[in-house]
Amino acid sequence: MITLKSRKEIELMRAANVMVAEILDILRELVRPGVTTMDLEVRAEEETRKRGVKPAFKGYYGFPWCLCASLNNVVVHGMPSEDTVLKEGDILGMDFGVLYKGFYGDSAITVPVGEISSTARRLLDVTAQSLDRAIEAAVPDNTLGDISFAVQSCVEAEGFSVVRDFVGHGIGRKLHEAPQVPNFGEAGKGVKLQPGMVLAIEPMINQGGYKTRVLEDGWTAVTQDGALSAHFEHTVAVTDNGPYVLSRI
Ligand code: MG
Ligand code: MG
Repeated sequence: MITLKSRKEIELMRAANVMVAEILDILRELVRPGVTTMDLEVRAEEETRKRGVKPAFKGYYGFPWCLCASLNNVVVHGMPSEDTVLKEGDILGMDFGVLYKGFYGDSAITVPVGEISSTARRLLDVTAQSLDRAIEAAVPDNTLGDISFAVQSCVEAEGFSVVRDFVGHGIGRKLHEAPQVPNFGEAGKGVKLQPGMVLAIEPMINQGGYKTRVLEDGWTAVTQDGALSAHFEHTVAVTDNGPYVLSRI
């Protein structure tokens, strides 16, 4: 069942998501060659504690960290590590969430480490653009399929592929709520969008094939072909005034 959020609840979710956005901005500024993904985790936890909120991911189905740090061929759910040292030319996905006054915020960015290849740059740009297209489709009387199609059509036109094994989601008092929000699908199909729906829209886009596999740690999802992957996410409320991007500041 899809739970619709009241205006007041959406404003609480806005507050949660603004904190997520602020913290991701801080982390983005720290990304440079020589920094480890554990350095970023430590800062994410400090900033979370400073704001008196709870990290959304730590302990979620046993995930041990606040931050998902997904380097290069890692699609999502990368584990921060002191052994993962960023180097020039890498791309780093950072997915982060908090729980505030009973509501979740969830957002992700993928950032370049120093100078990156033109292909990597294009992958980041197209993935971000596909999220913008999807957000534009998050309006009343459109359907979930319109969001999915917006991502898929944008990405495939550029020769990249859409991950099938992980999808976006409804969000609210739970981190993952109905409906699932796939990044592939047909325009006009699926549930009709209504004011009060809040969706975490999160294209996960591969440079090569769409297939993924999960490493032995049970979390780290990588591209099967070893090529790069990018991930951007916003939490978006469907409203009568159009899409309200709660995690954009
Ligand atoms: Mg996320
Ligand atoms: Mg999410």
